[in-house]
Amino acid sequence: MDTKLVPIKCNECKAWAVFEINLINNGANFKCTHCGNEFPIEGTQKQTKETISNLRKYAKIEAQLYPEILNLKNPGDHTILSEKD
Ligand SMILES: [Zn+2]
Repeated sequence: MDTKLVPIKCNECKAWAVFEINLINNGANFKCTHCGNEFPIEGTQKQTKETISNLRKYAKIEAQLYPEILNLKNPGDHTILSEKD
C-alpha cells in the first residue's frame, strides 16, 4: 500500500498534525496520527494525487506564517498554533 505523510490541520484535535494518507482504489483514507481521526475521500487516482499535492502546497504556504509546520514529519508529530489574525 502506498502511504504518504502530509501535515494537515485536523478538524478533530484542532492541531496541525501529520496525517497518514493511504491510497485506495477509489480515493484515499486520511488518518490523523495525533488523535486517530480518520476519514476517506473519494476520487480518481489523478484527483487524489492533486488533492495531496494541494494539501502539501497549502502546508508550505501556512509554514511561511507558522514555521512550526515544517517540523511535522513523523507520525505523531503535531503542533497547536496560536492564531495570528
Ligand atoms: Zn487530529
